[in-house]
Amino acid sequence: VAVIAPDNDATISAMLRLPKQGASWWLEQWQARERWIDARYRALGGAWAIVRLLGRDEARRVPAQLPTRATPRFVIVVLRHARGAELEPLLDRIAATVQAHEQRFRWAEPKSSPKPDPTRLDPRSVPVERLAVKAGVKPALRIRLYQWEAPYEVGLWLREGFAVTAVETDAGADGARTYVMVARTRAHVDALADAELRQFLPMPAQLDALRECGELLGYPPCCVEAFVRSTELEEGRDAELDSRRCNFHRLDAAWVPLADARLNTLRQHESLGLISFDPCSFACPAALAAAEGIAEVVEAAHPGYVELLRGSFAINHDDDRVALELEPGPAGGARVRAATATRANAEGFAARLLGCCVDEDGRVPELDEPCRVFRFA
Ligand SMILES: [Zn+2]
Repeated sequence: VAVIAPDNDATISAMLRLPKQGASWWLEQWQARERWIDARYRALGGAWAIVRLLGRDEARRVPAQLPTRATPRFVIVVLRHARGAELEPLLDRIAATVQAHEQRFRWAEPKSSPKPDPTRLDPRSVPVERLAVKAGVKPALRIRLYQWEAPYEVGLWLREGFAVTAVETDAGADGARTYVMVARTRAHVDALADAELRQFLPMPAQLDALRECGELLGYPPCCVEAFVRSTELEEGRDAELDSRRCNFHRLDAAWVPLADARLNTLRQHESLGLISFDPCSFACPAALAAAEGIAEVVEAAHPGYVELLRGSFAINHDDDRVALELEPGPAGGARVRAATATRANAEGFAARLLGCCVDEDGRVPELDEPCRVFRFA
């Protein structure tokens, strides 16, 4: 569909301006839109009319009851007018001036905006959970964002027919304190919002709320329990330190010699991963079932995504995270050939790991700090 070329102003003006001689109508103003031009005319005595100029191709879209006139290249339509306005002489005169100047008018091909190839999207921006919820393999979604972002997010989901609830909290150190809950039914989002808010209650109600939240988000109960257990290690003096230690102990407790890549949560801080909960064990069948469903949906939209979750990764008790390259080492173990920090301030941990041996239990005996090496295939 052609659009109005940008350098037509003088031509449009000439097409629409009526001769002054004996004028009963005159042009007040006009505005070019993308595919048509609107103009406002005024008559002696105060009557007015709003007129649209369309290309001949668009004529079929003009409602039959509107007064129109055609020229070789345009259709002139009166969209609205004052009661009693004399439209026939107006249309006659516009048609005459349009026809006198329309040869110089130029249409242009609209600039096409090529759609980005989804397979070439930065994998960190792949909306894994959104895809999973839309595909029905995840029952609900909890999105934490800044307050000003919420209306846009809510609008997107409502348009897709989801039930949405937004909750304001005072949690979240970075100021992102609004939670948008999304699910297929109103009852589900309301329950999720309720459980989210009950996490502010004193113990043990807080833990019940946490369990409920997990269940409503589709997390396996065994994995939710493992999370709850890991929070019992919190000492309550330093929330940030508590969270880092809990993350380490939870993952450490879930260690297996070789895990399915679809369960890899060690890249979550890089916005890479299929599941948004840590499994109770990297061999947990319930967690794997959840991950498999999501993997299918994500892999269909972004082929190669799961490949990014394969490999070896190390974490220490400060929650420093490092991607590793291993080579065969002594006694059935492995040696660290390369170590890359994937989290800010993990460079020191990466440097300490370089050249170290990793034993069959994923331990690094040469290092004093508690740490673990995970392999995903
Ligand atoms: Zn589990």
